[in-house]
Amino acid sequence: MTKRVLVLPGDGIGPEIVAEAVKVLDHLAGEGLDVELDEGLIGGAAYDAAGSPLPESTLAMAREADAVLLGAVGGPKWEPLDIAVRPEKGLLGLRAGLGLFSNLRPAILYPQLASASSLRPEIVSGLDIMIVRELTGGIYFGQPRGIRTLENGERQGFNTLVYAEHEIERIVRSACEIAMKRGKRLCSVDKANVLECTELWREVATRVVKSEYPQIELSHMYVDNAAMQLVKWPKQFDVMVTTNMFGDILSDAAAMLTGSIGMLPSASLNEKGQGMYEPIHGSAPDIAGKGIANPLATILSVAMMLRYSLNEAGMADRIEKAVVAVLDKGLRTPDIMSEGMTEVNCEGMGDALVAAL
Ligand code: NAD
Repeated sequence: MTKRVLVLPGDGIGPEIVAEAVKVLDHLAGEGLDVELDEGLIGGAAYDAAGSPLPESTLAMAREADAVLLGAVGGPKWEPLDIAVRPEKGLLGLRAGLGLFSNLRPAILYPQLASASSLRPEIVSGLDIMIVRELTGGIYFGQPRGIRTLENGERQGFNTLVYAEHEIERIVRSACEIAMKRGKRLCSVDKANVLECTELWREVATRVVKSEYPQIELSHMYVDNAAMQLVKWPKQFDVMVTTNMFGDILSDAAAMLTGSIGMLPSASLNEKGQGMYEPIHGSAPDIAGKGIANPLATILSVAMMLRYSLNEAGMADRIEKAVVAVLDKGLRTPDIMSEGMTEVNCEGMGDALVAAL
């Protein structure tokens, strides 16, 4: 059956990097991948054209699609706007509208790029970990929330950390499914010594893994220690699963271990296996329009899409191998350039990738 992919280029470098990812999809379609692409508006581009960062038509197309490929949203042009219509709201609306509760953030460091990390090469070279972050619950969404005025006239800000058992169960299951395809080791990160909510998290995680995935080796770690261990010896981890806020912070730290923000893809999945795939970086307004952005994070997002939503693991493997091949050839966009290598622009990298495929 033909799979439908909704392509949302967005703002800044979004259209440039998405064009290269679409080249890869077109190439695979020429080899038999049964896929149909639609294009829609999101973010600042959608606000300019339709007055909303997430037009109804975009959400409707996303609901019909098997997967969404997103570039990036945002930029200084839209910063003065009211928060309700800022480009980032488009992204949050899409996550909520599709129920994308499971955010997969790999942190991979290709040995060819080990010198890009701020850590010593032996600590990070060959790093391959997956952080699974809960994306639709926790303190970012919990009620009540707000800023109130106390009796003494002082203002007080408050947010609520809440997780129901079913929310913990489904994210732990999602992480277990990933762990089963990798090294079968899962580290659940919480703050169970201080927060009752994550005491429940730990209890439910233990129950789900023991009863449903006995093959998986489960460990628990407090979030402060996890942050320390990620910097000290990141290769000890295989898959990590954690709450929305802890995952937000840890996955950025893990990403930066690799030193190459232009190389990291991500996926956000719902219960139906529908997913949104996007590079972890933003719209990079400082280099937008120059044609020098690194398209590999977006192309690797296509690989994740093939693996997790389109059931084409073989093609995903081929894209990942093609990335290694272009790096081995010494081709580098400016963000990952080093001495002795050959600098290419965004389009040049996309073309080289297709050639390697
Ligand atoms: P950013 O990720 O856009 O850029 C950080 C730095 O990394 C910049 O120097 C940029 O040039 C560089 N960079 C990022 N991607 C690159 C690539 N593919 N190739 C080469 N270099 C790359 O983060 P920022 O500057 O903090 O944010 C810029 C805008 O993006 C803001 O409006 C922000 O809200 C938005 N943003 C969007 C998303 C998203 O769409 N998912 C995520 C983060 C930030």
